[in-house]
Amino acid sequence: MSAPRVPRIDLVSDTATRPCAAMRAAMASAEVGDEQRGEDPSVRALCQRVASLLGKEQAMFLPSGTLCNQIAVLVHCRPGDEIIAAQDAHIITSEGAGAAVLAGSFVRTVESPRGIFGGAQVDAAVRARKPKAPRSRLVALEQTCNRGGGSVWPLAAVEEVARAARAHGLALHMDGARLLNAAVASGVGAERYAAPMDSVWLDLSKGLGCPVGGVLAGSADFIEQAWIWKHRLGGAMRQAGILAAAGLHALEHNVARLAEDHANARAFAQRIAALPGVRLDPPQVDTNLVFFDVRDTGLAAEDISRALLAHDVRIGIEGGTRMRAVTHLDVSEQDCLQAAAALGQVIAAR
Ligand SMILES: *Cc1c(COP(=O)(O)O)cnc(C)c1O
Repeated sequence: MSAPRVPRIDLVSDTATRPCAAMRAAMASAEVGDEQRGEDPSVRALCQRVASLLGKEQAMFLPSGTLCNQIAVLVHCRPGDEIIAAQDAHIITSEGAGAAVLAGSFVRTVESPRGIFGGAQVDAAVRARKPKAPRSRLVALEQTCNRGGGSVWPLAAVEEVARAARAHGLALHMDGARLLNAAVASGVGAERYAAPMDSVWLDLSKGLGCPVGGVLAGSADFIEQAWIWKHRLGGAMRQAGILAAAGLHALEHNVARLAEDHANARAFAQRIAALPGVRLDPPQVDTNLVFFDVRDTGLAAEDISRALLAHDVRIGIEGGTRMRAVTHLDVSEQDCLQAAAALGQVIAAR
């Protein structure tokens, strides 16, 4: 059976990137060794580089961002513990309820416009210590906040939440799948967002253009415990330097250019906001994610998504009438404008 054909302009996710020729060359010539034994020089170099980028003692290479989140939760939480996170956090919506299944912990959600909340909301979400209550244990933030619209947590908000969490003796975790998008968009260094965190990670397989991988960072003690879970869950690898070399290449070449993805997202957003029946939701576009609502076109997200395929464009469906377009390394400004024009044609033809 042949693989389904993917449209040329694929805005469904920034995971749609394919490794470029230079990245593949770096992978092909990578020095490698046994990662589980700590003998892979490329993995070691990548971990050192990310630890230093995030201002942490150590880091660990993992096959996915989901595993970064899950291992962090497993290190921080025990069965019966509670995690405080924004209502649509990836950890809740998109990880197979892993926090519950693996760590025996559940999530208390905080309602927050654009996924960003404050210290007072942490105070309100923390449970009083009683034998019958879950034990509040961890605050988890997403930077950028995916379902908040790719929103960037202001540094002051991160610090305020961290102060509140500390006052209650809670640990702090940052899901930094797109942390470097936040750093590039705001001009605030990733290490400053990461400073109040016990654990933080970034995804190599999103806007950075790598085929595989996430890197989880924290204190030496945190990483030592995380290694137990990495083995236990089957995330320990062998000659993973082939993959780490892609990460090193990406950190060298693909970070500053995230600004282009953000500019393309804004250009796309500006065009589609002017189309009849399209409402940006949320209205601001901070980074590379554009969420919008098509309710007033009279069409469902599914109808629009299907019709766009005929224009060689793919845009994601978020629910009934909500859609998400994501810019990345493999779509140009021209592609984004073409996608916006195609959306205009689909709406005009309804
Ligand atoms: C994509 C994503 C993840 C999971 O990363 P994978 O590498 O796809 O497992 C976690 N959190 C957020 C916010 C994401 O966008």
